[in-house]
Amino acid sequence: MVTKAKSKEAAPKLRVGVLGCAGRMGRALVRTIGAAEDAMVVGGTEPEGSPWIGQDVGVPIGLPDIGSAIDADPRALFERSDVVLDFTSPAVTALHAGLAGATGVAYVLGTTGTSAAEEQSVWAASKQSVIVRAANMSLGLNLLLGLARKAATALDLDFDADVLEYHHKHKIDAPSGTAIALGHAVAAGRRQDHESVATWVRHGQTGARKRGDIGYAVLRGGDVVGEHTVFFAADGERIELSHRATNRDIFARGALAAARWTRGKKPGLYGMADVLGLAD
Ligand code: NAD
Repeated sequence: MVTKAKSKEAAPKLRVGVLGCAGRMGRALVRTIGAAEDAMVVGGTEPEGSPWIGQDVGVPIGLPDIGSAIDADPRALFERSDVVLDFTSPAVTALHAGLAGATGVAYVLGTTGTSAAEEQSVWAASKQSVIVRAANMSLGLNLLLGLARKAATALDLDFDADVLEYHHKHKIDAPSGTAIALGHAVAAGRRQDHESVATWVRHGQTGARKRGDIGYAVLRGGDVVGEHTVFFAADGERIELSHRATNRDIFARGALAAARWTRGKKPGLYGMADVLGLAD
């Protein structure tokens, strides 16, 4: 019997582009991808006029020899990448998603605070490109989303649901995209229309809370990476489901897992539940 020798050739490294590579998340991504054996950073962008332009992608993390200069041209980055990661600003989500659609390059989008029009451009681009979109890429948080939905399904409307989030003082949108995703998970578990039950802000003479409403509360300060709690409070008992991120690397690891997962997938809009095999 003739047996074929197994090929020992390693798969080519995944070529990853990092938009906004000098940002807080951009740096965590460059560090995480740089440490992976099966992936490499092939370039990064910062906006026109940024002092980082022309410097090596490694410079913002103190590794000056990754071998690619920071550039202001996202199209060139898409053209030399297998997958591009975007943790930048909603102002450029439509531009970046459009480039993903035009080039067919996979795109992992973590930017939060996007408008309905920007979401629409992501949806349109997903006809031509594999897009993974998640307001929070951590494994633990995605598990929390599933638990919140399950708890909401099991509990009746005697349990008042609120979502509390706490982030660093630099965060410019509120509530966090993750908090809103948790609110949606609660609404889905209870079969409610989220928009008609969401209470975004409470201030002044609000009156008593309405049965079935989902409230949001926001804290900002210091260097808090990200904390989320979903409360279910009834007369006499309260359930609190919490996740605390202490390190930005959890999001970067999730983003890299999403980047790896895009290989060989059909164009479409996916979430972390797909990446983690947690989808219904
Ligand atoms: P940051 O301000 O530290 O970094 C953003 C970077 O993007 C900056 O370096 C900025 O110069 C760059 N940038 C802005 N416009 C650009 C453009 N046109 N081209 C190239 N670069 C551009 O912010 P951050 O804390 O890194 O967060 C970035 C985004 O990611 C926010 O929306 C945040 O909420 C989100 N985020 C998502 C997750 C997740 O898991 N999905 C986790 C953390 C942060």
